[in-house]
Amino acid sequence: MLTQLTSHLWTLPSRSMQYNAGVFISNGEAALIDPGVHPDEMEALARLVAEQGASPRWLILTHSHWDHIFGPEHFPGVPVIAQARYLKEVDTNADGIRTEIAKWEKRFGLRRDAPFTIPRPTETFDDDATITVGSLNLRLTHVPGHASDQLAVYHAESETFWASDILSDVEIPFVSHSLAAYEATLTRLTDWAIRVLVPGHGHATTDPADIHARLTDNRAYLTELRARVTRAVRDEKTVEETVASCADMRYRHPEENEFYHRLNAESAYLELGGEADPKRVGWNQDWSLTAQ
Ligand SMILES: [Zn+2]
Repeated sequence: MLTQLTSHLWTLPSRSMQYNAGVFISNGEAALIDPGVHPDEMEALARLVAEQGASPRWLILTHSHWDHIFGPEHFPGVPVIAQARYLKEVDTNADGIRTEIAKWEKRFGLRRDAPFTIPRPTETFDDDATITVGSLNLRLTHVPGHASDQLAVYHAESETFWASDILSDVEIPFVSHSLAAYEATLTRLTDWAIRVLVPGHGHATTDPADIHARLTDNRAYLTELRARVTRAVRDEKTVEETVASCADMRYRHPEENEFYHRLNAESAYLELGGEADPKRVGWNQDWSLTAQ
């Protein structure tokens, strides 16, 4: 169901994965952000844009994970912008992305005539970029840590922050790129003025206490993870022992997030110098090996 969050931003929470698609609209132009995972959701966004008398001007892909890149094939010809590392990510992970998309389409009985083509952005940027949408200036900023190429979208006038896959109320930080980068990203965001927060998965919020808590809880979680894994590596613990030493950490929704917390501990172990086979542990393991 489409929700208008500010005078210029609408979100479309998906019926899957608590995923959020969105669109900024102003003066006849629209910037779509990760516009959906189901075809009917993308159609609903396209209808909204048309009803508002606008045309899609930009398609923003927040990062290269498979669930964020369906938009371009539904909005052909619309300029696509992504962070510069997107290209390396999709080149390195093309097989994994295609596998996940094939699984997704099979699960929902979606048929396609031609194989999925991983979209290439028409524009990229390194640290920051500003795009214009009608009378709005949207700042795109690099927020790595979950993905090396992740970007967030900031509209300063309304203090609206589209976070991509960080600052969720339902997920813990998924540290699938780099703990150090994730910590740096959250540190950088602490003094940003944010009144409206939309995560890639979970609930949008305008509650100052909730916004503050998401940032401080996630920072505290990463600090504690770093401390425990650093200690384990120093004491020459195995990866299994390290995971065990992180088991009683506190985090949101432990029943849903226990598996991801384990991956975080394993990936942090590798990042902080622990010795284990990266094909068999952590976020970027070879799942075809470990699924057997
Ligand atoms: Zn992601």
